[in-house]
Amino acid sequence: MTTPTYSVIAPIYNELSNIPELYRRVKETMDLTGEAWELIMVDDGSTDGSSAKIFELAEQDERVRPVIFARNFGHQIAVTAGLDYAQGKAVTIIDSDLQDPPEVILDLIAKWKEGFEVVYAVRAEREGESWFKLLTASLFYRMIAAITDVKIPLDTGDFRLLDHKVVKVMQQMRERHRFLRGMSAWVGFKQVGVPYRRAARLSGQTKYPFRKMFKLAWNAITGFSYVPLQIATYLGFISAGLSILVIPVVVVMRLAGSQAFFGQASSLLAVLFLGGVQLISLGILGEYIGRLYDEAKGRPLYIVRESQDDVNIGK
Ligand code: UDP
Ligand code: MG
Repeated sequence: MTTPTYSVIAPIYNELSNIPELYRRVKETMDLTGEAWELIMVDDGSTDGSSAKIFELAEQDERVRPVIFARNFGHQIAVTAGLDYAQGKAVTIIDSDLQDPPEVILDLIAKWKEGFEVVYAVRAEREGESWFKLLTASLFYRMIAAITDVKIPLDTGDFRLLDHKVVKVMQQMRERHRFLRGMSAWVGFKQVGVPYRRAARLSGQTKYPFRKMFKLAWNAITGFSYVPLQIATYLGFISAGLSILVIPVVVVMRLAGSQAFFGQASSLLAVLFLGGVQLISLGILGEYIGRLYDEAKGRPLYIVRESQDDVNIGK
């Protein structure tokens, strides 16, 4: 098989019912380009028989390349493996539940041909998602924009096209707790957004429960910002400053015979407030230290149980 011009990466976690339609629409779209392409299906430890389906497709069509994980490693890691295996000159990351319409890849390619090296798809409209998801997603993107230095475009997911130069740089970035959108903004290069309509999931349930979304949010924050660590410093200065201001007030009130600051309630509140602030600061510190520890262990990012070819890069 010749080296493909285009790679499409689809991370798959229990998406058995979506795989045939995903393959059909990707194939239909990519055939329109008239160039060689590959579809890398990364099975992220599915338990519903997705991997058997992937192998079945790979047998019919050699452009389908299976990468099967030994267990569930998470969406961001599955995409990372896809990037490691991708051979194309332009690499597109797409969700396998067809929320990202494969047809949009043609628009991404058009921008790539104009010379852009990172073409990210911007969710102009979203269908079939709960108000809770929309609200948390919108808050999340705006908070990230506020506290980080990297310009991560608002309302983008991982649906994007990366030039192979960018892919090469991303392959060097082996951090464990990943936020790929941030990483692909951080690298620089010529970037542009393309608006699209995000569809509803074809079938099945979201594989991103609140727990996983929360983890992704923490990875995004800790990966790109020290602001949480600095919060402790700010709070320390604020409460120290306040107490210095309050001391003369209390002294004067006491001398004037006021009873205002007697009693347990006020001291209890102060102790609880400071105790709370200290525990939260410790927790934030812990988040960063835990991540440091994970990096120090230097374990592989993922474990591949089965794939047809060698990976481009050491894991
Ligand atoms: N996914 C994955 N591993 C996981 C969770 C999700 O590979 O642990 C895949 C999933 O199969 C889908 C994509 O990541 O192709 C996005 O997940 P999902 O559609 O469930 O997220 P949502 O669109 O609801 O945010
Ligand atoms: Mg989805």
